[in-house]
Amino acid sequence: MFKTLLLTAAAGLALAMAAPGIGCAAPSDPAERKMVETVQADHARNLKLLESLVLVNSGSMNFKGVEQVGQMVRAELEPLGFQVRWSPMAAANRAGHLVAIHKGSGRGVHMLLIGHLDTVFELDSPFQGWTLKGNDIVEGPGTSDMKGGDVIMIAALRAMQAAGTLKDADITVVMTGDEEKRGAPLAVDRKDLIDAGHANDVALEFEGLARQNGQDIGSIARRSSGAWTVRAHAKSGHSSGVCTPQAGCGAIYELARILDDFRRELPEPHLTYNVGLISGGSQATINPTETGATASGKSNVISAEAIAMGDIRTLSPEQEARVRAKMAAIVAKHLPKTQAEISFADTGYPAMAPTEASRKLLAKLNQVNTSLGLPQMPEGDPDKRGAGDIALVSFLPGLLGLGMGGEGAHAPGETADLKTMDVQAERAALLMARLAKEPRPRP
Ligand SMILES: [Zn+2]
Repeated sequence: MFKTLLLTAAAGLALAMAAPGIGCAAPSDPAERKMVETVQADHARNLKLLESLVLVNSGSMNFKGVEQVGQMVRAELEPLGFQVRWSPMAAANRAGHLVAIHKGSGRGVHMLLIGHLDTVFELDSPFQGWTLKGNDIVEGPGTSDMKGGDVIMIAALRAMQAAGTLKDADITVVMTGDEEKRGAPLAVDRKDLIDAGHANDVALEFEGLARQNGQDIGSIARRSSGAWTVRAHAKSGHSSGVCTPQAGCGAIYELARILDDFRRELPEPHLTYNVGLISGGSQATINPTETGATASGKSNVISAEAIAMGDIRTLSPEQEARVRAKMAAIVAKHLPKTQAEISFADTGYPAMAPTEASRKLLAKLNQVNTSLGLPQMPEGDPDKRGAGDIALVSFLPGLLGLGMGGEGAHAPGETADLKTMDVQAERAALLMARLAKEPRPRP
């Protein structure tokens, strides 16, 4: 609480010195001041909530854990006047989603707030728990991606309630249970989110705050993410004949050729290509949840099966289609006596391209920054952002990255920078309160 106050004041002072007249650490509007005070007064409570959420493992495939985190969020939103329901997703082989609706006056901008309950760290991951690393850094699964953002969303809503600015606001919260490993089919698994998109006017997503050289960045675009699987097959045999025309090279060599050709031939602007899991031998399988693999084989036997999984990320559907065709052509150049095929999953995310309407929303966030005495947030580079749920409602103006700052998302050692918690909640509360007062852009 104290630290953020100092940080805000210092940032305001720096700005005031650079551009006289702009900097002012406390907003002049009494309701806005009350929201800032509430966020800061609730700091310890919000931190405790984050700790308790992080301590429950909610890997996407740990349905019990995901639902438990959903129940904990429900307990926060119901006292704020939200109608909360759990939308089970057995039909998509996932835990389900939390959907919460706050009915306001009906007259202001209707807001969709997007979060997720799951993390990439499954029950069998060695990365679990909550470890404080000094004053402001905490390590743990989902600390910044994105239980931290979920807590920031809740903190902002609670501040709005305390200041009387929530009462008239029309807000839908959707926290999905499988953002990190989406179920299929899309039409079933994301119906709640897409329906909520059509019922609202703007989308605000609380994934991690982007920062560059210590500066907070505004985000209005995301790249796509699509998973692929390559399966290679070959004639088995004695290793003494490997790579002779009669015996062939085996499935592992064929897979290695493909992956290395991908690495050398695919790179282009806005594209990344990753291999995340591999298995090969006399027999190789990937487990049904696609989070692990098994293999058996011997050093003196030519391998018969090999499988690899990974993803590609692009900035547009055209780029996606072109890169997929290039990958298929690489796969088709088989080594002697081998076969391979590539498939693309229906569980990815489309790209969210930057739009003028989203830029206007970022401009409103920057007006909030001015009121808080904070520096302006320039528009960030979409290449630096992963894919996410907000891209599925990209027909709405959208802002992303309203959540917790941190490092190392998706890898053991993920941390959150707790200094960003209060300031992000203050920004979100003021932005939402202002949007709620603006007339609805459509009936
Ligand atoms: Zn996330």
